[in-house]
Amino acid sequence: MNYFDFIREVPDFPRKGISFKDITPLLQNPKALQGAKKALLELLKDKQIDKVVGMESRGFFFGPMLAEQLNAGFVPVRKKGKLPYSTISENYDLEYGQDVLEIHADGIQKGDRVLVHDDVLATGGTASAVCRLIERLGGEVVQCNFLLELQFLSGRDKLIGYEVASLMQY
Ligand code: IMP
Repeated sequence: MNYFDFIREVPDFPRKGISFKDITPLLQNPKALQGAKKALLELLKDKQIDKVVGMESRGFFFGPMLAEQLNAGFVPVRKKGKLPYSTISENYDLEYGQDVLEIHADGIQKGDRVLVHDDVLATGGTASAVCRLIERLGGEVVQCNFLLELQFLSGRDKLIGYEVASLMQY
């Protein structure tokens, strides 16, 4: 299946000059949705995973589906102030500014093997902050996987030392 057919490019969103990759057409199509889920699992090549960590908010679409298939738990990473229990946090740079990400302090146990998932790898700031959160809690990042990767933003440079995989590259 050509997943690119299900990615809509929206010019000047959320700001002028940014061509936003919208994955909602892929989510809306049952075959593309199932195919993309399977293909993301194939990127992982049967590695054993204890937790899938997905970032707010588009990492929440596939993250729990992947966790369910992997017989793993799902752990959300959210923007500052959204998680109700005790958290740890990391500052991060993103394509459109700066922010703080948080994870529940009991979300990852020491030695957990973790898959990090998000829809898009852009500059890599978000994913690298998530990896730091996981490692501070004693987890091991087994792979960071993404539906799509904006290669011209060199996100992999911020994820050196981690296995990075993506379904589509722009
Ligand atoms: P990064 O931190 O620069 O790698 O940005 C990645 C984050 O920004 C992810 O959580 C994405 O959901 C979001 N993002 C950046 N660009 C796009 C886009 O074109 N489409 C959808 N999400 C994007």
